[in-house]
Order: sequence, then C-alpha cells, then structure tokens
Amino acid sequence: MTTRATAAEDLTREAAGDERAEGAAAQALGAIDVEAIRREFPALDQTVGDRPLVYLDSAATALKPRAVIDAVTEIYARDCANIHRGVHRLSQRATERFEGARDKVRALLNAPTSQEIVLVRGTTEAINLVAQSYARPRLGPGDEILVTELEHHANIVPWQIVCEQTGAELVVARMTDAGEVTADAVEAVLSPKTRLVALPHVSNALGTVLPVRRITELAKARGAAVLVDGAQAAPHMPVDVQELGCDFYAISGHKLYGPTGAGALFGRRELLDEMPPYQGGGEMIRTVTFEKTTYAPAPTKFEAGTPDIAGVVGVGAAIDFVREVGFDALAAHERDLMAYATEALSSVPGVEIVGTARDKRAVVSFLMDVAHPHDIGTIVDMEGVAIRTGHHCAQPIMRRFGVAATARASFGMYNNRADVDALVRALWRVREFLA
Ligand code: PLP
Repeated sequence: MTTRATAAEDLTREAAGDERAEGAAAQALGAIDVEAIRREFPALDQTVGDRPLVYLDSAATALKPRAVIDAVTEIYARDCANIHRGVHRLSQRATERFEGARDKVRALLNAPTSQEIVLVRGTTEAINLVAQSYARPRLGPGDEILVTELEHHANIVPWQIVCEQTGAELVVARMTDAGEVTADAVEAVLSPKTRLVALPHVSNALGTVLPVRRITELAKARGAAVLVDGAQAAPHMPVDVQELGCDFYAISGHKLYGPTGAGALFGRRELLDEMPPYQGGGEMIRTVTFEKTTYAPAPTKFEAGTPDIAGVVGVGAAIDFVREVGFDALAAHERDLMAYATEALSSVPGVEIVGTARDKRAVVSFLMDVAHPHDIGTIVDMEGVAIRTGHHCAQPIMRRFGVAATARASFGMYNNRADVDALVRALWRVREFLA
C-alpha cells in the first residue's frame, strides 16, 4: 500500500516538474495561461469535503466563467425586460443583447447569416426540431435515417420517434473496436433510401472525433441531408458549417461554458424556409385570426414564446470568452492533457481505457478491474475529484463494449496536469479500498 501511495506521490512530483517546464514552454509559444483561466471560474475556488475541487466532468456541463455569470446577472439586475415587443429602452437593450448573442453564435459556427441560427434550449431541442419539422413531413415507408453507433441518446430517440410516425427505418453505421466510425462504415450503409444522416462531431462517451466533412460529402452525393450533433465539438474546436457542408448543426451553450437551457441550431436557409413551425405561440407569427395564422420568417417562426433571454446572453458572453482564449491554444492545451491523462491512467494497474480512437477530444472513458464505475465515482469524489460514471446517455456504445457503464474524466480549458494527478492518486485509493 505504502509503495503504491509513494508511486503516486512520485508521479505527482515528477508531473509538477514537468508542468513547470511545460508552463514556460507554453508561454513562449503564446499558449493559454491555465492559472489565469482558473481564476476566472469561481466554482473552482472551493473544497468538497476537505479537498480542493478537481472538476473532471466538463462533458456533462462546463463550469462558468465570471464573465458569463456577470452577463446573466446584468440581464436580471439591469436589462430585465421581455424582448422584441417592447418600445421602452430596457426592452430595446435586452433585445440588442439577445440578438447580439445570435450574431456571436453565427460567427462561432461561421454560418452565412444570423437568420440561419435558431435559438433553442440546447442540442436535444435542436435535434427534435429538425426531426419533427424537417424529417417528419418528408419521410415515409421505404426511407431511411442513418445514425452511427457513437450517438448520444439525443441523436437516436428523436429519429426513432420520427420512424414510428412515418414508417421510415433507422439504419446504424457501426464502429470499430477502437471506437471509431469511419467514412467507409457510413458508406457501407448509405443507400438511395437514405434521406438523412445524423452523426456526432465528437462522441461524448469516448471522445472520438468523426470525419464529418467526408461523411457529409458521401451523404450529399446520395442526396441525403446531414445533421451534426456538435454538443461536444463546439467547446473544443473551431467549427465551420460552410466548410463541413452540413445542413444542420446543433450545440448546447452549457457545454461551452455558458448557462444551461440555451443553445442553438444552425440550419441552411433554404431548408429552414421550407420547414413548418415546430411549436406555436407568441412571437413566431406574422398575423393571427381565428381562421388562419401566418408565420414569421426563420428563425423567428421556430422561436415560440419567451426564450431564456439571460441564458442566451450568457451564451454570447461564453463565446466571447472562449474565442478570446483561442481555439488553437485551447486545442493544443487539451491535446497535451489528453496525452498526459491517457498515459497516467494507463499506469494504474487494472485500469483499461475504453475508446482508443486516433483522434479524440477531451474525454477519457475507463474501467477498473477492482471496482464498478459507480464505486470508482463515489470513492474519487471522497478525494474531491468529480468524474462521471454510468452509460453517459449512450447505452448502445456501452453495449458494444459489453459493459453497463464506464467512468469518464472529461476536460475543460481550466484543467491542468495536477488535476490528472489528483485523479490518478484517487484511483490508487480505489485500489486500496477494493483490491
Ligand atoms: N449530444 C451529445 C454528444 C451530448 O454530449 C449531449 C449532452 O451530454 C447532448 C447531445 C444533449 O445535450 P443537451 O442535454 O444540452 O440538450
């Protein structure tokens, strides 16, 4: 036991040395200053039990920087008004900030116009909108919707509902043992019947990055529309919907350091124009009589009711924050952290990493021979380390690997090598408790 603890401590000391050296190198390269970034996240400044918090659950939801919290507070404290309908100045200010956030989402995704950005609750709502408003009216028996084996349930269930409603069929592109879905695997199940391909940009359970551009090309060549679930990509990499060539791209603000309950759907203008409203109510209309209602143009026709104004403004502030850090620097930092974490976790006896794709972002899923993932999660929490355990809303992936659950560490811009070391130390404790 002592030897194991000592080994973990040695590792920490070594890492601390490495980190200092690397910190200097990173600064020379103009990379991100993680310590300065950490100071912007108030949630990191706390202990859980008697341990400093180590937050390794950003794939579930990212912590929020002060700039986001301030932007949300300011809406409620100062610009507290409903949007679009008011002539008074509070309403005008709130409207300006809300529409400003839409423009920021447009820039983040490099969408051609802000009219192609529908503000919704998040990725789940965005996908349901496309399922009900794009797919349902178009599909019938004999048509196919293609998804991959790497989906979050949010990119499975809405399509199953559409299949039940229309008689279309769900077809699945399989993954390799490493947890990759190749363009060839998608091509193998693409057919003239494929009307829509829905795939994740990055898998939340394994971190795998999918070859979205190539898959989109293949789908387009067969006349299928493409929806990309970008929930786990937008926080980690620059996204360019024009370069990807996709028709729809869905994101959640809360994974991107913004508030919960606010996200966005990019949809190509021609398609949004053709699509009927998803929900009816205030705001989305042009004229209403008891005989007939006419609708506002996109994106307004998809935004019935009062939205989460403060949430959307917070997402705008989050986008500013992330862009100021810069995706190149962020990606380099997270790449380093992934390599370090993969090696460090593999050095703990009995740890097996699930998902060994060549291109992964910010997620390490793993199993331990001595413990069920839920026990791992509970014990590392006693050490102040927050990880996620379970099926990660991706039961087909778990089934593919023959497990019910994994433990998952996921990273954000505020994580450093010391966080990984804390996890490794905590995993040694798991062994001590249960081996
Ligand atoms: N898609 C992926 C890949 C996700 O990771 C998540 C959330 O974990 C979702 C969709 C659903 O996102 P939300 O719950 O924000 O709608």
